[in-house]
Amino acid sequence: MENGKFRTLQDELNSQDMVDGHVLVLNHFMSSLKSQAIRCACGLGIPAVLHRLGGSATVANLLDETGLHPSKLPYLRRLMRALTVSGIFAATRGNNITETVYSLTPASRLLVGDTTSSSMSVLQSQRPEKGFAMFFRMEEWFRDDGGAGTLFKMEHGVTSPWELAKENSDYNTGLNKSCVIDTSIVMDVLLRGPSADVFRGVTSLVDVGGGYGAASLAIVGAFPGIKCTVMDLQQVIGEAPDDGVVQFVAGDMFEFVPPAQAAFFKNVLDCWSDDDCVKILRQCKKAIAKRDAGGKVIIINVVVGHGPDNVAAKETQVFYDMYMMSIDGIEREEHEWRDIFIEAGFSDYKITPILGYQSIIEVFP
Ligand code: SAH
Repeated sequence: MENGKFRTLQDELNSQDMVDGHVLVLNHFMSSLKSQAIRCACGLGIPAVLHRLGGSATVANLLDETGLHPSKLPYLRRLMRALTVSGIFAATRGNNITETVYSLTPASRLLVGDTTSSSMSVLQSQRPEKGFAMFFRMEEWFRDDGGAGTLFKMEHGVTSPWELAKENSDYNTGLNKSCVIDTSIVMDVLLRGPSADVFRGVTSLVDVGGGYGAASLAIVGAFPGIKCTVMDLQQVIGEAPDDGVVQFVAGDMFEFVPPAQAAFFKNVLDCWSDDDCVKILRQCKKAIAKRDAGGKVIIINVVVGHGPDNVAAKETQVFYDMYMMSIDGIEREEHEWRDIFIEAGFSDYKITPILGYQSIIEVFP
């Protein structure tokens, strides 16, 4: 109140601030259309068609090749324009002044192929009915007094994906396969670069919560001298394709971690609370060698605040964190990681950012 009258928005914000604020709010509200647009384009096979046509095509070509009804041409043009503005495709003017030629970018190149060979799997595994629908209930969850448990439980009736996977074999297989694709891309980049040095000198490794063993297979491929053991729950190990290159062990990491010189966790510890991580890491410390014998834990996970200083990488980190909130997991900042390492009895650590939003953390006993 000022002079007996309420201050209006116009009193508080100048025109530019009002416009900028309005655009930002609308942008947030509309952003879920980004996910729907990319999923639609992939479902229609557009990245694959572009690839087949040599990397670029007009909308008319895309319509022909995807077999869509001609009445959809103007709508397809708008879908392509939206995904070009957001950076998934690129556009140039064709011969005809009104004609736009769309082409693949590095992002859409990763979407070429089927669900077993590309980032497509990530999109598939995050179909609304499987992954994101529960977030429409986030406000309801915040208002709950804690009795409902996790957001995941509110939606699915069980606390975590692993419990759901135990009772639903299609969900189990889908979850494990989507981990394999993500892991293959991450490990490929990691093992091609200087970060591969974290595995140098390691003679044996236990890949805890290792799923179908994709990371271990990649590590053995690059370092044939390392003996890898993949440990995961029975429901995962029971259906992991075993070609004898790595050893598979079913078990519960809260009870026991098979002995090895080093332990490896990729996208595992962010699924658990601090207390649970301390329990897991204590089991791990019993399993690995002493520091002077090369003992260490290698973690691949987000370290919030580390990595490139661009909006896409930073948002991806905190979006993952929101996702993890649904199962009571967390993407940690450096000091949060440090606290659990110390609590679990480790003495030192080293963080190296890799692959944009993720880091490697080496933790020493
Ligand atoms: N490391 C793999 C899988 C990450 S998903 C990758 O990055 O691709 C987390 C994994 O932890 C799942 O495979 C899940 O089955 C496993 N997991 C969950 N609870 C576990 C437990 N108590 N003991 C061992 N593994 C567990």
